[in-house]
Amino acid sequence: MAHKVTLIPGDGIGPEVSAASRRCIEATGVKIEWEEALAGSAALEKTGELLPQATLDSIRKNKVALKGPIVTPIGEGFRSVNVGIRQALGLYACVRPARSYPGVKSLYKDIDLVIVRENSEDLYAGIEFEEGKPETKNLIQEIEKYSKKDIRPDSGISIKPISRSASERIVRFAFEYALKHGRKKVTLVHKANIMKFTDGLFLKTGREVAKDYAGKINFTEAIVDNMCMQLVQKPHIYDVLVLPNLYGDILSDLCAGLIGGLGIAPGANIGDGLAVFEAVHGSAPKYQGLNKVNPTAMILSGALMLEYLKEEKAAQALEGAVKAVISEGRYVTYDFKSDPNDPNIAGTREMADAIIKKLK
Ligand code: NAD
Repeated sequence: MAHKVTLIPGDGIGPEVSAASRRCIEATGVKIEWEEALAGSAALEKTGELLPQATLDSIRKNKVALKGPIVTPIGEGFRSVNVGIRQALGLYACVRPARSYPGVKSLYKDIDLVIVRENSEDLYAGIEFEEGKPETKNLIQEIEKYSKKDIRPDSGISIKPISRSASERIVRFAFEYALKHGRKKVTLVHKANIMKFTDGLFLKTGREVAKDYAGKINFTEAIVDNMCMQLVQKPHIYDVLVLPNLYGDILSDLCAGLIGGLGIAPGANIGDGLAVFEAVHGSAPKYQGLNKVNPTAMILSGALMLEYLKEEKAAQALEGAVKAVISEGRYVTYDFKSDPNDPNIAGTREMADAIIKKLK
């Protein structure tokens, strides 16, 4: 029986990389019934909404989606559609493996890390108060009253809620992921020395959860700034990292940098019985429509989706085909090449074609 999957092409380079990923997934032989749904600028044009209800309904019905990146205009009062999807569907865990592939131009070799990012709260909760608004002034006065600290009257305020329940859920998810995938260590990343009641709660809760896995999975903790340095100096000593939302976002790009860039970093957003698979990268608008960017991150997101659908053999075959094409280095996109004038640079479609050929 075919799996039903919602396909959201996305903005910018989204449609190109989603199409490449779809073709590669189909080439594994797994039967998928795709249901296309809109979000982002294409949805705004057609329906007047950035995230139509029909799109959320489609994901709820099919339970699995493959999603291209979607633009979030900076500082214009827009809520991110990407965050909106994760929050509306309760996709509380963001899983982002960062694995080195031979043939990729990178300062590092043999990286094999997994970021598990809390996806539902922290500074991404979207609770913000604009500078100068009457409610912001009231809030500032209230906070000053309770905290006995001064806040400049011309401040904007973003709220960072971190709960015991969401912290417990994500840390447990990270340990369960580690068990299921034969991983040895979970490192909890925080800034509890400064934010005692938010990151402090995340850390305290994480330590309690870790006790349930003692003897099976090692547990370590690291302060986020130190973690950045450690990841640059000795990434190989880390395994699974579990982080609150914002640090997870930032360290995802750092880890993508360790393995050769955003073009090859896949991801999954997972909730209870629902999952949306997407690359770590965004819509890279300057490359839109040029058939230029690397489709690998979206294709590997497709492999994660196949694994989630219990099509493990197809997932492994797809990852193997990607690996083979990258290591041969002939049909790869510009970002794999050290010489921008290399006459053998492949486009998005051609790289996908080469991967498909390996699957046949
Ligand atoms: P970006 O990831 O879109 O691009 C940054 C740079 O990374 C690009 O200029 C390019 O050099 C490189 N890059 C990205 N994807 C690549 C690929 N597939 N192949 C080769 N190189 C690639 O980040 P940005 O420019 O900060 O964001 C652009 C838009 O995307 C913003 O509106 C942002 O909000 C949005 N965004 C969306 C998501 C998502 O949909 N989940 C994630 C991140 C950013």
